[in-house]
Amino acid sequence: MTKIAVVPGSFDPITNGHLDIIERAAKVFPEVRVAVMNNSSKNPLFTVEERMDLISAVTSKFPNVIIESSSGLLIDYARKAGASVIVRGLRAISDFEYEMQITSMNRMLDESIETFFVMTKNQYSFLSSSIVKEVARYGGDISALVPSVVEKALREKYID
Ligand code: ADP
Repeated sequence: MTKIAVVPGSFDPITNGHLDIIERAAKVFPEVRVAVMNNSSKNPLFTVEERMDLISAVTSKFPNVIIESSSGLLIDYARKAGASVIVRGLRAISDFEYEMQITSMNRMLDESIETFFVMTKNQYSFLSSSIVKEVARYGGDISALVPSVVEKALREKYID
């Protein structure tokens, strides 16, 4: 059985919470593919290329982490990548219902691909890309929430 794990998400932009999940997945699985998904109804701040570049910059010390993008169904991407596992992060009970729905749907589409959940670290349980963007937009300090390269990219986006 292959041991490729996919860590999918919007990553608009990557936060310390995402990074923690990717790092922990990279310790367990021989190969981790971070998949920047481009098919959500969200209106992203960063282009897919910008999001991928930021992820590459902050995961460069992990030789087994590969960054890719997909605009189709996650399960199709996972199959093509030869992955047997999808890794998602869980923050709060509010994540649970949504994740349960997606996981059940993915299992219906392909039973052979398992979804594993990683619990967030306590200090990141409130952290999301949206909240980081909101604070950055109004000039708040986000240095504890995102890597410095992401902080810089956000500042540049919000300079008038
Ligand atoms: P999506 O639009 O697919 O939810 P996100 O970029 O918001 O994409 O999240 C990608 C994954 O990272 C999800 O599994 C999400 O639960 C997880 N995640 C996001 N923020 C955190 C965090 N602070 N701690 C742990 N996991 C997180």
